Amino acid sequence: MTTTIFHGLLVDTPTDPFTGGTLRAEQAALTVTDGVIRARGTLAEARNALPDAPVVALAGVVLPGLVDTHVHFPQLRIIGGLGLPLLDWLERCALPEEARMADPGYAARVAGEFTSGLLAAGTTTALVFGAHYASATDALFRAAEATGLRMTAGLVVGDRHLRPDLHTTPERAAIDSAELISRWHGRGSLRYAVTPRFALSATEELLRSCAEVLALAPDLFVTSHVNENPAEVAAVEELFGTSYTEAYHRAGLLGGHTVLAHNVHAGDAELALLAETGTAVSHCPSSNSSLGSGLFPMRRHLEAGVRLALGSDVGGGTGLSLFKEGLQAYFHQQLRPDGVPLTAAHLLHLATRAGAAALDLPGVGHLGVGASFDAIEVDPPAGTTLAAVLAHAPGPDEALAAIFAGGTSADISRVWTSGVSAHTRASQAA
Ligand SMILES: [Zn+2]
Repeated sequence: MTTTIFHGLLVDTPTDPFTGGTLRAEQAALTVTDGVIRARGTLAEARNALPDAPVVALAGVVLPGLVDTHVHFPQLRIIGGLGLPLLDWLERCALPEEARMADPGYAARVAGEFTSGLLAAGTTTALVFGAHYASATDALFRAAEATGLRMTAGLVVGDRHLRPDLHTTPERAAIDSAELISRWHGRGSLRYAVTPRFALSATEELLRSCAEVLALAPDLFVTSHVNENPAEVAAVEELFGTSYTEAYHRAGLLGGHTVLAHNVHAGDAELALLAETGTAVSHCPSSNSSLGSGLFPMRRHLEAGVRLALGSDVGGGTGLSLFKEGLQAYFHQQLRPDGVPLTAAHLLHLATRAGAAALDLPGVGHLGVGASFDAIEVDPPAGTTLAAVLAHAPGPDEALAAIFAGGTSADISRVWTSGVSAHTRASQAA
């Protein structure tokens, strides 16, 4: 049993700002035993209780580790493909790179860059789109295990409208998925997500085989895309003769362990169906702007009672930082006539606790007793603009807003998952 006391300015959102909750910001000490926060109080209290425990002083602002609920591992190296709408971008930028994942060595190198990149960006928990190849998806799980990233991920499957070398069959998809589930689901902090790429690339038979895979083990997840771009939505409706959301529902793929990305162009009946089934939506604002998909209708989601979280959607999104996604979510709402006025507390909640809730991880996304010590130290280098802003911030709300406005991976000095150091700025520079 190992115990460490961490103390500093701790900022989190234990209560939901969308339903009246507020930011919690206080100088406090956390007593962390075997990765879990066992006590929270003053430093004197912690030291009195455990005089021999080592004490780690945290600088700057300490936040819960960030939770990215939609990001594609095989797209790391093609970030920045600007200027194309979704379906053209897929064909010209994303899918050629995804086909390179057939080479296990290439995939392993990208998996290393991807998992270390997420941790450097302060993301300690992620729902990740794997590759279309089982060997590459296996490499992703190995990289996550090696780095301490808390990850839910799966083999991406499609059997039409992609490049032929990315196609599988319902039978092969089920066999490959079952093998990965037996190897990785429930191992440490890793879990498996059944991952049809999107309804456009899936026959009804493939979607049904995905639902059958769900029965193979408890607590499996489902993730996919929905209602991202008008041309895509029209194509799905024509193929299935129903709404995009209903296509997944008919196959038995909606529920409390399902996270669908985007939902920029959702009908009212679809929102009601998502709410009724407990399906969560991952809002990916940078990607929605970059691919010209549209401004996210957050108010309609909230009024319908749909659960929301945040995703970077790399490589449609333009980087791994959830600070940027929080800021872009704020921009989207500022630009919509019916926009939700988001505060820094809302952005932090979306980037932490809401994501953890979407992933059914109650012990993640906050810094209270019982939570895993997944945390990030935001301490900008001396002499930078953000350091100057934080040094003069009138209070924690303003400091947090400044972090979302200007923070990057370079401002994150240390990262822990389950109480273990997972990244330090110095080690990356070395
Ligand atoms: Zn995506």
